[in-house]
Amino acid sequence: MNGLMKALVKSKAEPGIWMETHPIPAIGAEDVLIKINKTAICGTDLHIWKWNDWAQKTIPVPLITGHEFSGEIVELGTAVKELKVGQRCSGEGHLIGKQSRQSRAGKFHLDPETRGIGVNEPGAFAEYLRLPAFNVVPLPDDIDDEIGAILDPLGNAVHTALSFNLIGEDVLITGAGPIGIMAAAVARHAGARNVVITDINQDRLALAGTVADVRPVNPAEESLNEVIAELGLKQGFDVGLEMSGNQDAMDQMIEAMVMGGKIALLGIPPGKSPVDWSRIVFKAITIKGVYGREIFETWYKMIAMLQNGLDVRSVITHRLSIDDFESGWRLDLAARWCWIGSGTVYLLNRYRFNRYTVPAD
Ligand code: NAD
Ligand code: ZN
Repeated sequence: MNGLMKALVKSKAEPGIWMETHPIPAIGAEDVLIKINKTAICGTDLHIWKWNDWAQKTIPVPLITGHEFSGEIVELGTAVKELKVGQRCSGEGHLIGKQSRQSRAGKFHLDPETRGIGVNEPGAFAEYLRLPAFNVVPLPDDIDDEIGAILDPLGNAVHTALSFNLIGEDVLITGAGPIGIMAAAVARHAGARNVVITDINQDRLALAGTVADVRPVNPAEESLNEVIAELGLKQGFDVGLEMSGNQDAMDQMIEAMVMGGKIALLGIPPGKSPVDWSRIVFKAITIKGVYGREIFETWYKMIAMLQNGLDVRSVITHRLSIDDFESGWRLDLAARWCWIGSGTVYLLNRYRFNRYTVPAD
């Protein structure tokens, strides 16, 4: 398809993201062209907007940003037989190589050659996105575009939450960001007995309580030991999902685990941090690092759970017009927002009072 499109572009090596006109991407034989209906902002997009150290080292300029999206296929590459024009879809934003041992073993999510749309390759904050057909995830009719646009972070939550068997287990989640809150809903759906979620932001704890059947805890105000006693747990939590990247939260989690407990780490600490390894050894704790989503087993599982009663919609709290995209940043909503073709944007509740400041202009 020839022509021009609107896109949100990191076009200068300085803080900001700018709306510009770019050519509609040309597609190869094994690609599809997707008309974007809705998108969502990730913490990654905020790093790019803020132009922090990671972004400066990672992001090529110019780059069309964004990787959380839903849309509709409008053009097929000549070799694409299994998809149709008009198919509603979301898609895996990690573009994998096919040469590594991991890929050749079918463990695509572990491929070290992975490149991300909106990070290394042109992204989805645009009217059109080029994507390999391999990465397309068709959306069934009962998954709407709004949920389709947050499947990427829901996938992080699902992949982390399903790292360990949760049936009948007592689960501690540290960090009630959108991913932590969605993980809480997933843990409940997957059969956990008690789900406790911590955050130091009261608004986020309140939101967690509306999205999932959880016990919210502000560790600045009450101790996890009191909560363990209140819930009648004999030792502590069986499974921990670390979703804050915060050192204090990690320390509290290790203390609150049972002997032989299991911890999945999704949160990304800002740098090196001290770890009391002897505590982990003596408690015989298993720790698993989690990156991205399983390609495509997590997608399968999360769509199946959504079709079977998992409800995360109320994690979306704000909806803005695409022309107001700057407002999301300026409100200091570390926001997720979705772009409906002609212009509505959705924001997930991602207040980051502690980490981001409102820019002067
Ligand atoms: P977010 O920043 O919106 O949420 C993190 C939450 O942790 C915030 O609400 C914050 O208030 C809370 N927090 C800070 N200090 C805390 C403490 N001491 N105790 C409890 N909570 C505390 O992030 P998100 O988008 O929900 O993502 C969750 C984490 O996962 C982030 O660290 C993000 O960078 C990371 N992430 C990792 C991957 C991956 O592939 N590994 C993918 C996506 C996100
Ligand atoms: Zn994301």
